[in-house]
Amino acid sequence: MMWRKSVAELRAGLRQREFSAVELAQAFSERSSRLQKQLNAFVTLTPDRALQQAEAADQLLADGQAPDLCGIPFAAKDNFCTSGIATTCGSRILADFVPPYESTVTRRVFDAGASLIGKTNMDEFAMGSSCEHSHVSATRNPWDLERVPGGSSGGSAAAVAAGLVPFALGSDTGGSIRQPASFCGITGIKPSYGRVSRYGLVAYASSLDQAGVMGRSAEDCAWLLKAMAGFDPRDSTSLEEQVEDYPALLEQDISGLRIGLPVEYWQGVDEGVAASVMEVSRELEQMGASVSEVSLSHADLAVSAYYIIAQAECSSNLSRYDGVRYGHRCEQPRDLADLYSRSRSEGFGAETKRRILVGTYALSTGYYDAYYGKAMRARRLIADDLNQALESFDFLLAPTAPTVAYGIGEKEQDPIDMYKGDVNTVAINLAGLPAIAVPGPLSEGLPVGAQLIGPYLSEARLLAVAHGLQQRTDWHQLRPEVE
Ligand code: GLN
Repeated sequence: MMWRKSVAELRAGLRQREFSAVELAQAFSERSSRLQKQLNAFVTLTPDRALQQAEAADQLLADGQAPDLCGIPFAAKDNFCTSGIATTCGSRILADFVPPYESTVTRRVFDAGASLIGKTNMDEFAMGSSCEHSHVSATRNPWDLERVPGGSSGGSAAAVAAGLVPFALGSDTGGSIRQPASFCGITGIKPSYGRVSRYGLVAYASSLDQAGVMGRSAEDCAWLLKAMAGFDPRDSTSLEEQVEDYPALLEQDISGLRIGLPVEYWQGVDEGVAASVMEVSRELEQMGASVSEVSLSHADLAVSAYYIIAQAECSSNLSRYDGVRYGHRCEQPRDLADLYSRSRSEGFGAETKRRILVGTYALSTGYYDAYYGKAMRARRLIADDLNQALESFDFLLAPTAPTVAYGIGEKEQDPIDMYKGDVNTVAINLAGLPAIAVPGPLSEGLPVGAQLIGPYLSEARLLAVAHGLQQRTDWHQLRPEVE
């Protein structure tokens, strides 16, 4: 069964002619389209593009010039602009938007030879933690179809967990790769801010957004991250620093690690979740790590600071959807004000509107200092805490989310309650640090993610530690039964 194979196995199989890239593209496209009804993991399936790319990949393989991801299928979250393919960002306002240009990340992944199976579902403009706020409705968690897959990269998480693609692109502004990875039992890495280009990644909150990878193992993630990372002159915040060879560095020496458990990140966490992540901690100890507690004294400010900063930035970023240049336009506007107001009222969903309102308020004259200014001061304290802790420890370990996946509709009426679920992920974005979520043992039959947080640019080491753990355990091998 091709869809069960790891990226390393797929690479080897392609090179040994066990199967062709075209066969892979067809098999994954067929499985994706068959399970779409149950899971709703995709906004758009792109079987024709996959086939076309796979034909080119087979040619390269035949010529012996195959790049790293030659012939490997993948999916992209629907906020990566893909030239000639609809990019809706989970929003009605972009429902008919077909970008005329390619995001740097998808272009690089295409250049590495991968075939695009489809664009995955997400919370509108990546605002949410459940993948319920999408114009094409919710994605379902393959472990339990009545539960959310997490969000906002819920479509990518569900697709990877259900074997619709070996790996997928996600974006993480406050947890959107790590939390859905946890809810769906896969591995997800959010790189350091600036490591991966944001060019063509539709903006949510520009100082926090970072593209990353979701896969079934750290090793699989390493392949995709290597292809997409690196300096891009088109993104002024991208980092001019050489990309490490992540797959080659998976076996590096990781003995003698010092791991800190931030006590605040373990408070208010469900018992089963804490027990699972503790099990991961014990395994790391058996690998030779020393584990002790550490305190991040401003941890309680993170959710409030994040939800002011992210909403302030989104209110500014989303002002570009005005019904004039692109996106939804209302019928027969009376005048310019009517065009703006009706196009936006019709195009944006409720959660997006809530955030634009809160963000605009926080930035308004008279309130700017009290909200945005204060949140920025809190951001500095939060980042200082983390960076300081990472001077005494190599990595920090904590549950990614306080709970397992909850029911669809369960938090719909209480947005603040949903925001609180981001308590262990948002600070990492405020500090621009890298972090990886890896599956621990199940809790009540559902996946749990352990989050490892590292210092700036420690992606290679984070992946190596996760890989070491996955060599010794089989939690990441557990798969939901969906057919
Ligand atoms: N759940 C968080 C939010 O809604 C994070 C989303 C994200 O990382 N894109 O803002």
